[in-house]
Amino acid sequence: MSYRDAIVFVDGKFLKGDEAKISVWDHAVLYGDAVFDTARIYEGKIFKLDEHLDRLFDSAKGLNLKPPAEFTALKEIVIEVVKRNAISNGQIRIIFTRGEGPPGIDPTLCPKASLIVSAVPVPPMLGHQGVRLLISTVRKKSPISVDSKIKSINYIDNILAKIQAKSGGYDDAVMLDPSGYVAEASGANIFGVKKGALFTPPATVALEGVTRATIIELAKELGIEISERQTTTQDLYTADEVFLTGTGIDGIVQVREIDGRKIGDGSWPVSNKLREGYTKLIHSRFLTAAN
Ligand code: PMP
Repeated sequence: MSYRDAIVFVDGKFLKGDEAKISVWDHAVLYGDAVFDTARIYEGKIFKLDEHLDRLFDSAKGLNLKPPAEFTALKEIVIEVVKRNAISNGQIRIIFTRGEGPPGIDPTLCPKASLIVSAVPVPPMLGHQGVRLLISTVRKKSPISVDSKIKSINYIDNILAKIQAKSGGYDDAVMLDPSGYVAEASGANIFGVKKGALFTPPATVALEGVTRATIIELAKELGIEISERQTTTQDLYTADEVFLTGTGIDGIVQVREIDGRKIGDGSWPVSNKLREGYTKLIHSRFLTAAN
């Protein structure tokens, strides 16, 4: 099924693919004034839906955007969208837009937020093979202007970094924070392994990823040392293993090269162990959507 044929929920209606639309006066269209979250569907079940919804409601709170649905009602809508699309493996996207209002940025003139929920069988964004990364010259937005915990639809910095990476023949970009420390990839968090211990940048400039939190929890359970600390590009170049985590990339994707430097020796003991643990988790701790 193509995303164009998917059933999409928009403001109370289940609509067919191309018929699902929002107003051109919605402030999401005019100013990128909207928040979203995505979750993964495995065998018709949604992984960590509550965690993704919690983050979505927190993002909305940050923008003082009144959610267009309550938590429990939204959960039922999400489950219904997955059912109606008969998706066994894919991705859900939930968007709260600011809603329609007159041109002019004042969000208080937009009386009602809109809700969009879609579910499509998309393949993992970066495939499953080891990826090649470029350290982008495009810095992540400073959390002084927009807190990275707000997952808004405005991804322009990430998109600029992705353009740079792809035009240079790389799979994805590593983005640095305004001070030059590693933040994350264009749509995923980043981890390194040195002498058996894990490290990852703090979630101050990077998004506080649900997968990132799951991997940290898993590492603790497996007795792998983990530190959330300022990370330099040199830390990545000289790591024994580097990997990305995220919903869109379907968990863990290992990195084989950064800026032309080969990472590690081609064996992946720690990330393979984590991936194994993660695979077990997604088949045990999730919410039933179908039947
Ligand atoms: N960073 C960015 C910029 C992202 O867009 C995502 C994907 N939502 C992530 C990290 C990973 O977050 P999660 O594990 O919650 O999908």
